[in-house]
Amino acid sequence: MLGLMMQTPLLISSLIAHADRQHGDTPIVSRRVEDPQGPLHRTTWREVHRRSRQLANALAHLGVNRGDRVATLAWNTHRHLELYYAVSGSGAVCHTINPRLFEEQIAWILEDAGAEVVFFDASFADIAARLVARVPRVRHYIQLSERAELPNDFPAQLHAYEDLVHSHSEHFTWPQLEETAASGLCYTSGTTGNPKGVLYSHRSTVLHAYACALPDSFGVSARDVVMPVVPMYHVNAWGLPYIAALTGASLVLPGPLQDGPALHRLIVDEGVTLSNGVPTVWLGLLQHIAGKSEGLGRLRKLVIGGSACPPSMMDAFAQRGVEVLHAWGMTELSPIGVVNAPKADNATLDPTATAVRRNKQGRPLPGVELAILDEDDSPLPHDGASFGELVVRSPWAVRQYFGRAPGDGFTADGWFRTGDVATIDPAGYMQITDRAKDVIKSGGEWISSIELENILSAHPAVLEAAAIAVPHPKWDERPLMAVVLKPGTTLERNEMHAHFSGKVARWWIPEDLAIIAAIPHTATGKIDKRRLRDQFSEHRWPT
Ligand code: AMP
Repeated sequence: MLGLMMQTPLLISSLIAHADRQHGDTPIVSRRVEDPQGPLHRTTWREVHRRSRQLANALAHLGVNRGDRVATLAWNTHRHLELYYAVSGSGAVCHTINPRLFEEQIAWILEDAGAEVVFFDASFADIAARLVARVPRVRHYIQLSERAELPNDFPAQLHAYEDLVHSHSEHFTWPQLEETAASGLCYTSGTTGNPKGVLYSHRSTVLHAYACALPDSFGVSARDVVMPVVPMYHVNAWGLPYIAALTGASLVLPGPLQDGPALHRLIVDEGVTLSNGVPTVWLGLLQHIAGKSEGLGRLRKLVIGGSACPPSMMDAFAQRGVEVLHAWGMTELSPIGVVNAPKADNATLDPTATAVRRNKQGRPLPGVELAILDEDDSPLPHDGASFGELVVRSPWAVRQYFGRAPGDGFTADGWFRTGDVATIDPAGYMQITDRAKDVIKSGGEWISSIELENILSAHPAVLEAAAIAVPHPKWDERPLMAVVLKPGTTLERNEMHAHFSGKVARWWIPEDLAIIAAIPHTATGKIDKRRLRDQFSEHRWPT
């Protein structure tokens, strides 16, 4: 027997329509790409909805049909937000591309995705111009600006976004699509091999937004002022543009400026209450406010993930009254899988057990199932000690990569293989030991690079630390710490050994350290361990 409830599809357009109806006057604030240091652009959910409808008419005029991929190379701005709603809402696929990738990769992705329309910010006009010859399939280029700001020498016909919007009617009825229709397309960062496309649906996006908004997830409400620092070109800024519309929160969009001073100004001036980002970004903010009396305004929560958040960072923010929500996820998971929120029994834990739990990545959102598998794909116990390959199932997890054969990257019974190595404890908290390719294998045993980094990051002289495996004649591999020091400090090998002593097994203690000027990061802000491993592959161990 079927239930007798309405079959209203879960659609992205319903999020913006709701934000307009219930929170129409709520501010949407954005830095302007034309003048990032200048006055902010101020609009509302009602205006975003109105302009999205105009843009939807413009897309139809350009010949964009349902299912067509519409690419964006853009910062977090109000215009990118309008594209999110106009493109997906009208039934096309919003295909965000990371402009920090190499140009060959961008071209490859556009080809693989079959995109025929590209919207780009003026700061990426040079990249777009060079794509013209490389990707002939693209029919339309649109710069996200007024006509007066268009470059003179663009090698193809170029539209101005504002012309497109203004020349079309705001009367547009969002189509009643199937909720399983494709809505967005993101590519994995492709650190090994070519990037792979993850094709989100309206249903997966809306369910992910509902789950992320919950009190034990990000906990977002209509009283929040939310600033996505995670780029809208990286897994939809972890869903915040959708979560904000769902909850009626205000949005502050930082545009092209992600440095500590610029973020600090927005946080204080705009009363930001919640933000998100990778640890590196927050390192910049902490450095900027170190020793300053000025606080962090109304900021109360930071969702930090993308790579492991060092406990020392959680402490630094806690001292300033900001709660860090450690989160784990990946492009294939829309991206959020777990968030570290306390459970009722936290009140009964002693301080050590509380710290151990807090430093884990977190527990699954409702809708996410996790398991860890051994080398034969047999499930391992959730005892907090056994570690194995983390696999996941969820309505917002990938089922098959775009344009790839089914089964690639999945277990025989359909769980997605994350490529991460993890433990799960009896309370359900998952802890990432490492990305499988980053674990350090010493004398046949595994050493967690993340744990070594977490420990050394707490040393007062250390700004940032990365642990990598370096070949060793006796033990196959041994850990080497690549370290960036705070200005005016030093760190000797003996001091490092003393710092680790008693915190990890003796054989885990890194053999050596290399002081470097900067840790290399990938296009998505993670520590680029492959580059570090290449750099130190010939490292001479001390005798
Ligand atoms: P991406 O698809 O680019 O978002 O990368 C996903 C990968 O980032 C995951 O598979 C993890 O290896 C890593 N990652 C994400 N969040 C965390 C976290 N909180 N701690 C450790 N690693 C993380």
